[in-house]
Amino acid sequence: MYPNRFEYCCPASLQEVLSLLSTHQDEAKLLAGGQSLLSMMKLRLANPTYLIDLARIPGLNAIGEENGQISIGAMTTYAQIKGSHLLRNKCPLLPQTATLVADVQVRNRGTIGGSLAHADPAADMSAAILALGAEMKVVGPKGERWIKAEDFFVTMMTTVLDPDEILTEIRVPILKDEKTVYLKNAPRPSDFAIVGIAVCLKLNHQGTCEDIAMGVTGITDKAYRARDVEEVLRGRKLEPKIIKEAASEIIHGVEVNENIHASKEFRSHIARVYANRAIQAASKGLVRVISEDG
Ligand SMILES: Cc1cc2nc3c(=O)[nH]c(=O)nc-3n(C[C@H](O)[C@H](O)[C@H](O)COP(=O)(O)OP(=O)(O)OC[C@H]3O[C@@H](n4cnc5c(N)ncnc54)[C@H](O)[C@@H]3O)c2cc1C
Repeated sequence: MYPNRFEYCCPASLQEVLSLLSTHQDEAKLLAGGQSLLSMMKLRLANPTYLIDLARIPGLNAIGEENGQISIGAMTTYAQIKGSHLLRNKCPLLPQTATLVADVQVRNRGTIGGSLAHADPAADMSAAILALGAEMKVVGPKGERWIKAEDFFVTMMTTVLDPDEILTEIRVPILKDEKTVYLKNAPRPSDFAIVGIAVCLKLNHQGTCEDIAMGVTGITDKAYRARDVEEVLRGRKLEPKIIKEAASEIIHGVEVNENIHASKEFRSHIARVYANRAIQAASKGLVRVISEDG
C-alpha cells in the first residue's frame, strides 16, 4: 500500500524543526527511523500532510556521560545502544534490552526516541527506561522541559508530548552496585512482547533489597512501574517465597489486555512468572548482553 500524499521536509536544525511544528501542528509528523510511522502511513492510520525528517539534525544521536548521568540522543538507534561501550559498562540494561527488540534491520533504523514517542504499549525500551527512572528532555516553542519516565506515557500510542514538541534526549543514571535485567516473552524472538519486565535492583551485603524499580510492558494500554511489586520487596531478604509473593502483585489494579497472541488469563500468568524470574535473575546478577549481531 502507498501512503497518502505528503510534503517531505528535511530541516537542518532543531530551530527549523520547531518552526515547522509550530506552523503545521497536528498536520505534521516527525520522522525518526520510520519503523513504526511508515507502516502506519501505508495503512492510512497516520496521514500527515508534512513529514519532518530528523535525520539531519546535528547532535541527536550521541551517547555521552554528563554530570554523573548518561545522555542518549533521541535519534540514537537500537544498534548504537547495543554497541555502546559506555552503556555496556555503566548502564547495561539498555544494551541488553536493545538486543531483544525486533530484528537486525529494525534495530539498525529504529531509534530510542521514536520508540518512546510512539508509545506502543508493548515496546521494550519503555520498560527499561521506567526501571532506570530515566528523564526525558522535550523541546517546544516555550523552551525545554524534563519529564520523568513514569509521567511520560499516557495511554496506548499517547504521551504527554504536545504536537509542537520534540523529544531530544533521554538521561539514565550511571549504575554502580545495581543489578539489572530485561526479560521478554514473545511469540517469536523478533516479535513484540506479550510481557516484558525490566528490573533495577540494589541489594545490601546481607542480600536484603535496599531498592528496586520494575518497569513493565505488554500488559496493559501503557508501560508502567510495578509499584506494588516493589513495595513487597523493599527492606526484605529476597527469598523465593517473598519473590513469589511480590511477583503475584504485578497486575494489581491493572486492566490486562487480550489479543490473538494471549488471553487475559495467559498474559496475567506469564506476567507473574516473568516478574518472578526477572527478580531472581537480577538478584543473582544473571545479566546477559549478547555481543554478536543477530
Ligand atoms: C518488523 C518490526 C518488528 C518490531 N518489533 C519490535 C519489538 O520487538 N519491540 C519494540 O519495542 N519495537 C518493535 N518494533 C518497533 C520499532 O522499535 C520502532 O523502531 C519504534 O517503535 C519506532 O522508532 P522509529 O525510530 O522507527 O520511529 P518512527 O517510526 O520514525 O516514529 C514513530 C513515532 O514517533 C514520533 N517521533 C519519532 N521521533 C520523535 C521525537 N524525537 N520526538 C517526538 N516524536 C517523535 C513520530 O512522529 C511517530 O509518530 C518493530 C517494528 C517492526 C517494523
